[in-house]
Amino acid sequence: MFVYKYQETMARFEFDLLIAGAGPAGCTLALNLAGTGLRIAVIEKDIFPRNKICGDALSGKVLNVMKRIPGNVYDDFLQNVNKIPSWGIRFTAPNSHSIDVPFQADRLPGTPPPGYVCKRNDFDNFLFEQLKAHSNIRVFQGERILEVSTGTGGALVKTENHEFYGQVIAGADGVHSFVRKSLNRRSVDKRHFCVGIRAYYENVTGLHPENFIELIFLKELLPGYFWIFPSTGGHANIGFGMLQDQVIRRKENLTNIFHDLITSHPLLAPRFINAKPAGKSGAHTLPLGTLDFNRSGERYVLLGDAAFLVDPFSGEGIGNAMASGEIAASILDACFNRQDFSASSLKAYDVRIGKRFSQEFKTTAIMQRLAHSAWLFNMVIDKARKNRDVSGLLTAMFTNEDIKKKLTRPGFYAGLLLK
Ligand SMILES: Cc1cc2nc3c(=O)[nH]c(=O)nc-3n(C[C@H](O)[C@H](O)[C@H](O)COP(=O)(O)OP(=O)(O)OC[C@H]3O[C@@H](n4cnc5c(N)ncnc54)[C@H](O)[C@@H]3O)c2cc1C
Repeated sequence: MFVYKYQETMARFEFDLLIAGAGPAGCTLALNLAGTGLRIAVIEKDIFPRNKICGDALSGKVLNVMKRIPGNVYDDFLQNVNKIPSWGIRFTAPNSHSIDVPFQADRLPGTPPPGYVCKRNDFDNFLFEQLKAHSNIRVFQGERILEVSTGTGGALVKTENHEFYGQVIAGADGVHSFVRKSLNRRSVDKRHFCVGIRAYYENVTGLHPENFIELIFLKELLPGYFWIFPSTGGHANIGFGMLQDQVIRRKENLTNIFHDLITSHPLLAPRFINAKPAGKSGAHTLPLGTLDFNRSGERYVLLGDAAFLVDPFSGEGIGNAMASGEIAASILDACFNRQDFSASSLKAYDVRIGKRFSQEFKTTAIMQRLAHSAWLFNMVIDKARKNRDVSGLLTAMFTNEDIKKKLTRPGFYAGLLLK
């Protein structure tokens, strides 16, 4: 096997590829390139296991990307990671009518679950630990990136204690990406952000016996929603997301809104009478895929949240972050073979990201706009309670591309009225 030495000149390290951030995007990129022998540095500001504010829902997209990572990452995840299976969704409309929709209508014994709820502490640490199995991947934790530059000679990163040099840099450093702000200086309108608050609680009542995840569309949060996801350790992951400009207009902080909802909202308060928080709540920003921009340039690519790849309707971002890591791996591998890291060579990354996400985000952005209407939600959920075909459409709106497109057509809703 090819063994190399890291060249260490004082505090300067030389690598082929620098990856900023060890979240799902950065780890997926590194793991997909592990077999190439490229010298890879993963530079991460936190120390793992680290806390990440999230709903912790892992969709089928996450599982599919994991299955394609070389080695036995997926099997290892199935066997060794603390998680609970997700079998379906309970939808609640603003008029408080609910419906339970299983992901698979007639589930056979032994069928693997289509998704999981897994605390990000556990999931992200699992991916992070996978990096250590590869001698050509070196992880630097507790190293906040403070400076990034690129030029004809390569990419340079500075942290407080070290300098890192590479041929190219992948910015997988989350929503407030330092790499994006340094290399792709564009200001972003707040319409492209959503904010979410998350807390773990124990003793929440009324959870589904099969741990269906719950999406509760409250009038005051539309097009966002409140969620209750049964989680590990007897906890439930609770939270809600709202468009950032709505929060600014309300001039209220998320913690107060959250507290008011679980103590006074007639749908929620009875379920939290004996509930206790398990740890502190926290809020964070989601960068929505409604923003279309160049996610690559001379000697850099942007991945995951740094690249605005969160689904504008569902808020799902982990699977998209990992998918971008997988795409970046194949494009960067080709660039290393050609030794060409120019903006025009890396443009292939934007093209592939566009093919993978552009239509999907257009569709879900329309769904986000339609979801402002409480009336529409009430109507769809009431129809779904009476009609199995319509209830199937509800889960498909989170999973199936063709059905998502159907849901954005006004004619679809006119048709529903007649059902
Ligand atoms: C409230 C909320 C709920 C959500 N719920 C879900 C859900 O249920 N399901 C779902 O699929 N998605 C959900 N998301 C979205 C999901 O969390 C993100 O899309 C996902 O984490 C993106 O992965 P990433 O690897 O791009 O970024 P991250 O997971 O944010 O990882 C980025 C990494 O970069 C590091 N970093 C940042 N700055 C620097 C720096 N200067 N130097 C070095 N390192 C740095 C960070 O420490 C971090 O480890 C939710 C988001 C929020 C806010």
